[in-house]
Amino acid sequence: MSFINPLSDEGKQIVREDGGDLDRIFDVNDDIIDAVNSITAQEISDDAYIPKSYVDLVIKRVEWYVDKKSDPKYNHKKYAFLFYPEIAKFDVIAFYILCQAVGIKYGPNSRESRAVSELQGQIIENRLEELYERDRLEIVEKIMNTLIVQDRIKWTSLADLLSSKKISLQDLVLKDGNVILDQEDFMEYFGDVVKLQQPERMYNVFIGNRIKELIMIKMIMQNTENYIKNVHEIAGREVEPNATLLKIAEEVADALSKEIRYYGGGDGGGDVEASPLNVEKFPPCIRKALDGIKSGGRNEVIVLFLTPFLSYARLYPSVFMRNTTLKVSDVDADLKITQNEILPMIYDSADRCSPPLFDDQPQEKININAKLGFGMNDNLNLQHEGETTWYTPMSCEKVKLNMPNLCKPDKTCKGITNPLSYYNRKMREK
Ligand code: SF4
Repeated sequence: MSFINPLSDEGKQIVREDGGDLDRIFDVNDDIIDAVNSITAQEISDDAYIPKSYVDLVIKRVEWYVDKKSDPKYNHKKYAFLFYPEIAKFDVIAFYILCQAVGIKYGPNSRESRAVSELQGQIIENRLEELYERDRLEIVEKIMNTLIVQDRIKWTSLADLLSSKKISLQDLVLKDGNVILDQEDFMEYFGDVVKLQQPERMYNVFIGNRIKELIMIKMIMQNTENYIKNVHEIAGREVEPNATLLKIAEEVADALSKEIRYYGGGDGGGDVEASPLNVEKFPPCIRKALDGIKSGGRNEVIVLFLTPFLSYARLYPSVFMRNTTLKVSDVDADLKITQNEILPMIYDSADRCSPPLFDDQPQEKININAKLGFGMNDNLNLQHEGETTWYTPMSCEKVKLNMPNLCKPDKTCKGITNPLSYYNRKMREK
């Protein structure tokens, strides 16, 4: 059970018995090496694939998360050991070391903390996929019983998950304020209504194991964040934070920054690097938008057209070549580029509109934040990131349809379907 939920009583027991000695977590640990080597699915051709210590295991967890998300050459066999219970005991301890390191150094609202929570959610999903269906149902049931003790779950008891947008009300089937998860409850409440439609089938369509698993995973993620917050608060009361954990936190941040290199760096084999914006390489439509809009449609041009283009062109120009959704902070961790380079350009263009956009519509600044993925909020705040999605740049087809005055194609526009592809093409020519 602790392999899926390290915060369970069983997980805490493991840490109490085996995880106390922080002085030895950098040491080579033969038990970890033997456990990993015993997993037949594990690629062992390169010694570097095998974690040698608890700290190695912590970093490998982070590297898996980054590689899986970002590396086009991701090799699952390199990390197969993460999904086999042979390493369960060591993995639980590595989880606590990771949370404590990040909690002490970066705190609960950091990019590192969000990455640890996401990482844990994804590890659980992958571990469940390794199980036979019956075992999977059983373990989810068992863990749910420990996470939710009352018979009937009021939707208000999931307030944390709802307010942090980990689940949405649309994911849930509700009756009289109760969240319906079990087949028995579904039959009791809806059996009559759906009897012509085979109630069991309907239960599987609307709820089944899918919703239970979703809630379980999101609850463990939320508990992970709460644990990190707790560690941070306790560390704040200490005179000196633990130096070993601070060192590990830096290694974790280094491993996470590899993600930025994948998207922003030059190792993408033909991808365009993230680099300061070069206005001379912009397509005609964007250059026209930068000059400000003198007639109608200011909001649409600044908020829906310019904001996604400038942010992706600066931070993640290869978005259409890679099939991976990112957040702004995945590539601009402290949001400095966004604050210092991207927003000023958008605001300048808004000021060049006639009349200046924010003079009569200051709320459009909030809409710009929303299009960057930070929800309907006044400021770009990491805590709100993910409340909306980071809008991808509009296609040429949509530009031609909705803002035909902007599209004045030149010879590079031939065969181009998106202004961002135009920019990338031009940047590659340099
Ligand atoms: S064809 Fe596309 S890139 Fe070229 S000006 Fe028109 S919208 Fe812009």
